[in-house]
Amino acid sequence: MQKRVYIETYGCQMNEHDTERILSLLEGVNYLETKNPGEADFILINTCSVREKPEHKVYSALGRYKCLKEKRGTIIGVAGCVAQQEGDRLLDRVPYLDMVIGTHAIPMIPQLLQKKEVSGERVCETSFDQNGQYLKAVLPEKPLDKVKSYVTIMQGCDHFCSFCIVPYVRGREKSRSSKEIMEEVRSLAGMGVREVCLLGQNVNGYGKGCEGEIRFSELLERINEIEGLQRIRFTTSHPKDLSEDLVQAFSKLSKLCEHIHLPFQSGSDEVLKAMHRGYTKESYLEKIDRMKKACPSIAVTADVIVGFPGEEEEDFRQTLDLIEKVQFDDLYSFKYSPRKGTRAAQFKDKVEEKVKQERLSILQEIQKEVTLRKNQELEGRVVEVLVEGQSKQNTQDVTGRTRSNKVVNFEGDLNLVGKLVPVRIIQGYAHSLRGEIITHGA
Ligand code: SAM
Ligand code: SF4
Repeated sequence: MQKRVYIETYGCQMNEHDTERILSLLEGVNYLETKNPGEADFILINTCSVREKPEHKVYSALGRYKCLKEKRGTIIGVAGCVAQQEGDRLLDRVPYLDMVIGTHAIPMIPQLLQKKEVSGERVCETSFDQNGQYLKAVLPEKPLDKVKSYVTIMQGCDHFCSFCIVPYVRGREKSRSSKEIMEEVRSLAGMGVREVCLLGQNVNGYGKGCEGEIRFSELLERINEIEGLQRIRFTTSHPKDLSEDLVQAFSKLSKLCEHIHLPFQSGSDEVLKAMHRGYTKESYLEKIDRMKKACPSIAVTADVIVGFPGEEEEDFRQTLDLIEKVQFDDLYSFKYSPRKGTRAAQFKDKVEEKVKQERLSILQEIQKEVTLRKNQELEGRVVEVLVEGQSKQNTQDVTGRTRSNKVVNFEGDLNLVGKLVPVRIIQGYAHSLRGEIITHGA
């Protein structure tokens, strides 16, 4: 009998991709996706614990679905980082919760669900898999109705930045074999996927510790040769591991899009040291310089944290100075959020919430202007857009992205989806661009 699954996803691209994998796996045992939790037989909350806010959202989501459990007997599960971190404690705390699925247990979800259905017993699976089975691709059997796809190339992290929970909830760094990655990308390209985004916490460290494995830049070179594929992206990179061959790849590989996401976290050397990031403000700036020399049109985005323990006014000024010098295309900025079990959670000199908020607002105001100016600078220029689908705002419009990863909306037909088209930018806004397609002879 056909059943329905509803998945609510929090957090990063890694979680979004895990949700896609879970949906494909569940399709194999007759569970189809629904967007309506009220008609679901299984509700899964795929969680994030990188900061406190998304972690809290899990508990309010669970509260929302309690009545469905009572009314319809819906099976309720929690997956992802909070599941990994809390394990059995989550079952104790939420008596109507049926399943806790850790970050390495995704491939086991169909069996765990069947076990729950048959025995009625509550399930908790949070052991770390040692042989990398959890990294195996789950490829849908029918062609994807999709223009772009994520491909996980590695999982976990060995960096242990003092603020970050990832190494504890995703486990140690593990790369997938290049052979398997190539097979997956070839198969996706064969199904009509035009763009892949290679995923990992630290993709430029790809292959580390795997004897005989190729380097990240070589992996990019090989993917660049795959027929049918038009664009390659990757995220996230760590400044410490940004090698010269990767910098040069941007000028050499035609399908590699001109965009890098390179989180810097702080512009203060003292704070960077306390964060255990392994680089200085100067060496970060020097790497950006090399990137821009190798590829002048490259768009640079980053993550930054304000209010790390011990961050003084002068440290914050150094962060603003770095932002001023780089002129990022966009920035993801966060207030420091203490995470239980990380080293920084024990640090003294906590920064007051009010100060954190003030610094965040100052930084975001500055960045807003830079992003807008950069978008406006594109006005009048013709850019290549990969059309992804209909615009959410206006049904006459389609939406896509430039190679530099900026969203462009323009009037156009849905038969453009999946095509690369030349678009003239008419207006640059804070979060997107407005354009017009260049038709033949225009
Ligand atoms: N691996 C990536 C790197 O090293 O840049 C980042 C992965 S992390 C999931 C995404 C971003 O969340 C980080 O770059 C950082 O800015 C932010 N983040 C992580 N832990 C945080 C914390 N405790 N408080 C605030 N922001 C945090
Ligand atoms: Fe977290 Fe640092 Fe690893 Fe990124 S590199 S996932 S911030 S520990």
